[in-house]
Amino acid sequence: KLSKRLEKVATYVNKGARMADIGSDHAYLPVYLAKQQQIDFAIAGEVVKGPFLNAKQEVEKEGLAHVIDVRLADGLKAVNLEDNINVVTICGMGGPLIRDILNSGKEKLENKPRLILQPNVGEKDVRVWLQENHYKIIDEDILEEDKHIYEIMVAEYTSEQTNLSEAELLFGKYLLENKNDVFRKKWHKELEKINKVRVQLKQAKQVPEQKIAELDNLQSLIEGALN
Ligand code: SAM
Repeated sequence: KLSKRLEKVATYVNKGARMADIGSDHAYLPVYLAKQQQIDFAIAGEVVKGPFLNAKQEVEKEGLAHVIDVRLADGLKAVNLEDNINVVTICGMGGPLIRDILNSGKEKLENKPRLILQPNVGEKDVRVWLQENHYKIIDEDILEEDKHIYEIMVAEYTSEQTNLSEAELLFGKYLLENKNDVFRKKWHKELEKINKVRVQLKQAKQVPEQKIAELDNLQSLIEGALN
């Protein structure tokens, strides 16, 4: 059974999509979508041999090799422009890695596919990249599964310039508008982490002024968001 997290991601994949799932591991997401006949074609990209073989095996076991092409490649190198991919999913990695994958594969985004991204941490890095690269976030989600809190962002290419505020880049514009229980829980936890870091910093020989100023700024942003 697919995780609640990937099930949620799946709801943002357009019907009839030609998708590339980068860092696909077992290819669970494209397999699920192909079984629902939600997609026309998928590339399951993996850079590591083990997960690549897992994905191949899963796709063959499900008899879906005619829909899902499993490719061993680093990031968006798995994609060719002729594949006419219109949805790219990158899930279950840190935000900085997702950003680096997008950034080093920019030329593979020429057809301006929808991006559905699910960073485990460092969501802000992803939002900054999207904004700098003419991708507008059109929806966001936050959910909890097995004691982890996950964010999902959906972005579409735009010719306009978007200008998110510091708070919107950190929290997510849509998540900030809704402030649901999971959102509140996530940021309450972050406040607790900040307090722990403060305790540790107090033990430092020299007062790390800059670090403390950063924490103050972060804390006031979070408190502002939770009000
Ligand atoms: N996307 C699946 C999910 O959300 O459940 C799997 C997540 S798994 C934690 C991350 C996968 O990304 C690993 O299988 C890893 O090998 C792969 N990965 C990491 N860096 C990658 C890269 N540059 N290109 C392709 N795959 C990568």
